[in-house]
Amino acid sequence: MAAASEKTAILSENAILLNADFSDKESAILAAAQLLVDEGAIEPAYGKSMLAREKVANTWLGSGVVIPHGMVEDRNLVNRDAISVIQVPNGVDWQNGEKAKLIFAIAANSDGHIEILKRLTRLLSHPDALQKLETTGDKSAIMAALVENDDAPESEAADLQVTKEWVLDYPSGLHARPASIWVEFAKKSGQKILVRNGNSQADMTSLAGLLQLGGKNGDTLVFSTDAENGEELLGEAVLMARKITLSEKEAAEKAEVKPKKIYGFRPPSGKTGIDGLSASPGLSVGTIFILENGAGEVEDKPGKLSEDAARLENALGRTKDKMKAIVDDVTRRIGASDAAIFKAQATLLDDDNLISSACHLMAEGHGVAWSWNKAVEEAANALQHMDNPLLAARAVDLRDVGGRVLAEIDPLYAKGSFENIGEGAIIVAEDLTPSDTANLNPEKVHGLITASGGPTSHTAILARTLGIPALVAAGNKVFEAKNGESAIVDGYNGILYLSPTKEDVEAAQKQIVKLAEEREKEVAERAKPAKTTDGHIIDIAANINRPDQVAFALDEGAEGVGLMRTEFLFLESTETPDEETQYKVYRDMLSALGGKSLIIRALDIGGDKQVAHLDLPKEDNPFLGVRGARLLLRRKDLLVPQLRAIYRAAKEGGDPWIMFPMIMSVNEIKELKTLAEEIRKDLAAPVLKIGIMIEVPAAAIMADIFAPHVDFFSIGTNDLTQYTMAVDRQNPDLAAEADSLDPAVLRMVERTVSGAEKAGKWVGVCGGIAGDPFGAMLLSGLGVNELSMTPRDIATVKARLRAKSLADMRKLANKALQCETAEEVRALDEAKS
Ligand code: PEP
Ligand code: MG
Repeated sequence: MAAASEKTAILSENAILLNADFSDKESAILAAAQLLVDEGAIEPAYGKSMLAREKVANTWLGSGVVIPHGMVEDRNLVNRDAISVIQVPNGVDWQNGEKAKLIFAIAANSDGHIEILKRLTRLLSHPDALQKLETTGDKSAIMAALVENDDAPESEAADLQVTKEWVLDYPSGLHARPASIWVEFAKKSGQKILVRNGNSQADMTSLAGLLQLGGKNGDTLVFSTDAENGEELLGEAVLMARKITLSEKEAAEKAEVKPKKIYGFRPPSGKTGIDGLSASPGLSVGTIFILENGAGEVEDKPGKLSEDAARLENALGRTKDKMKAIVDDVTRRIGASDAAIFKAQATLLDDDNLISSACHLMAEGHGVAWSWNKAVEEAANALQHMDNPLLAARAVDLRDVGGRVLAEIDPLYAKGSFENIGEGAIIVAEDLTPSDTANLNPEKVHGLITASGGPTSHTAILARTLGIPALVAAGNKVFEAKNGESAIVDGYNGILYLSPTKEDVEAAQKQIVKLAEEREKEVAERAKPAKTTDGHIIDIAANINRPDQVAFALDEGAEGVGLMRTEFLFLESTETPDEETQYKVYRDMLSALGGKSLIIRALDIGGDKQVAHLDLPKEDNPFLGVRGARLLLRRKDLLVPQLRAIYRAAKEGGDPWIMFPMIMSVNEIKELKTLAEEIRKDLAAPVLKIGIMIEVPAAAIMADIFAPHVDFFSIGTNDLTQYTMAVDRQNPDLAAEADSLDPAVLRMVERTVSGAEKAGKWVGVCGGIAGDPFGAMLLSGLGVNELSMTPRDIATVKARLRAKSLADMRKLANKALQCETAEEVRALDEAKS
């Protein structure tokens, strides 16, 4: 008996529920998960993971037996290997009308679940035993069945004529996913293939049989067959098995809980938090406020067509009026550039297709609210599935504005509001729309946490502008939070700590005060130059796009504009801005700058910046396609008016420089310069500095050859990183691999600077890493002359540069160039150690 209890330690009587009844599969799974939670074997969120798994792959094993388990990537929610058992004598619908009568919910790490599967699948070959278990009123019968089956003598295993051995190298063993691929292979071959592991043998077409082998990483498996082409067939079988190895290893790696490196605040209690992606920096303490999803199902209440059409029209009109008010409000509270999000949203309301498809549905006899919601959902889904991240992001905007109209049609569908929000709220939501975020009062809201979303979304951008610490993409674990629960948000590291101890809260508050004092000091000195302790000055400029942003940039300490992305004039307009319109913008920008330099980047369209009104052909790889200078050289109708507008503005004073994006050859530079000179002469305008962006490895490597042809370089580290690392800068899955501090990128910067130095040319950096305080130090150490960044980053960057000598930063940069990885480079940051 001692042996039996040892073997069943994975299953206790408390984790068995007999004679249960469920109306649906979801509640059955959640009940099974709850038993495991009560056993302390899993965290509560693992239940949701089990439901998610069921959506990806049904866990029906056969003969009324099901094995719900969670997703591989959620294994960190498993505390120990265990199973729970629920007996459902009447069965619960599981798949295609088949009913599950015995539910074995599995919580397992690594190989552990193979052993469990082995026990369970054995049961399948004992129909009598199974039947008894379906109705038994005795929990110990279930425990014993698992044990007795385990002790059953193994059947004699004999190989067929041709054999081939293979050492199983799947970190998680031969579990259901790879085994089902094996079954598919065997079925397709039409030949009998056996697989043996020690004394256990299975027909390769039987999933249960393969699982019963209990194959663990490192086990030697013997494939055998009597087929005529046996050698060849088994060769292919092993090849097929081997092909899965890589994805299995990747899945196992993903599942490994990698401890996150935490900088700055750490709770003294040692409490671990819920991880997300940092979307807006800052540390705060507050109280959880769960934002309900709002609308939910929209009921189809057919009405009179003429009345419904009038309701829709009125709702659209009211929404447009309200959107205008929102634009005014956001402009005042947050700024014109962020308000542009809502201007763009309002234009979605003029979409004829959207309105006519809603009317179409109403004419078919559906209610107005239902029809509008359906039309919006269909259009948003279509956008979401387009192969273009910008359009996909528009889906969020469309749903946002569509929801406003819906609330106007019927207030019943108004979204969960922030009206009841208390002081110090930490909002937890599935996702937040830009209007949710813009509506927030930063005085009251101390944090934003979303289960989905991305760090580059409009929502994240607004949170940063409002200065609210935020983390996104934290997964369903965020819903472990309860309304009113106290919490700490660490926006720097992207962590939410629930129910911190008194000590944790005190430590966080101390840190908040310290950070605020530091920030205050930095801000107070933001107008001073970035002069290192050994007297070297690094120019600090701002990346801004419109004249109305100049005053703010200068106030934040900018000494000029290092990057004006002129494509935004095109992106934010529904038509192509002509020469006159552009001229006025450049003139206003220069006059607002009062003699300070303005680097105007010529149109950089293409890649992630697609402008609908330019009607450019769709490309399979837009980042490697006709973008930047390549487009300008092909579309002189865009380039000429822009250059004319710049030179005309220059005639009225100021210090404009011209910069061309995405340059990769001397020929491009020569052609662009020739054209610019013709235009200048034609207008009798002053000579302007002409430079190029270094954004592709070809340009960085050829910097010494390019330098004599230009007046300056500005390194676009965003693109330079993407092209050096061959990582799409929009791909959230690869965000960690696209670090601009990777030594490979830093070496490109070094090569650019040394190429420029030979010809005595000036080098700036206007990519995102210029605004990262540690990045700014490294770039300065590598010898760049200017750093251009988002205005808000200026004070901190200046403070950081002023605290060091150039000599030390050079040493630091040299160390970074010798590092093996970006992580190693980041570890050189003393401020974070
Ligand atoms: C860059 O690539 O670093 C850059 C500044 O240009 P953009 O981000 O506009 O492509
Ligand atoms: Mg770029």
